[in-house]
Amino acid sequence: MKYPIPLQKLITLLKKIPGVGQRTAERYAFQMIQWKESDLSNLAYTLANLKNDLTPCPECGALKDELKCPFCNDPKRDKKTLCIVSSPKDIFAIENTSIFNGIYHVMPGLLSPIDGLGPEEMKFETLKQRIETLHIREVILALDSTVEGDATALFLKRELGKLDVLLSRLALGMPLGSSLDFIDEGTLSQALSARLPI
Ligand SMILES: [Zn+2]
Repeated sequence: MKYPIPLQKLITLLKKIPGVGQRTAERYAFQMIQWKESDLSNLAYTLANLKNDLTPCPECGALKDELKCPFCNDPKRDKKTLCIVSSPKDIFAIENTSIFNGIYHVMPGLLSPIDGLGPEEMKFETLKQRIETLHIREVILALDSTVEGDATALFLKRELGKLDVLLSRLALGMPLGSSLDFIDEGTLSQALSARLPI
């Protein structure tokens, strides 16, 4: 038997969440029917405003909720050390280790020509300008240990090698094929502290 349209719509939307299949979506949807009206409105409101309330910092690309970026505008951060990540999510993982006190730069993604992300899409000029304007001394590549991550690191090494900066990459303990998402805090701390020059 088919579900009533509003329920079917909810199930279809829930299935967009990674890891949520038909069965799980159905379970969630039936549970949500039991929620208080106010919780449902709250969820709807939060989702509707998510993109507006959460804006990337125009300087570094970190996600922020206030007018000022918590990294670029914090006088206590070391503005000469730049950590390059491929997703704003990775910043949270690195911050959780509490051992990095520099600033960040979010790349548009990892090099992946199949997905339409070639060298031109990497917006390297913006990165280069930032490094020069801020007189960055050290650049740390905190990229996934995957084929795309390695290709991006190689590309950045070639381009950044022309600048007067110390270049290093997370290495130790980073299992091959792993993305920063799935690495535990301890391993990431170790990988950051024991970064290797490239
Ligand atoms: Zn920023």
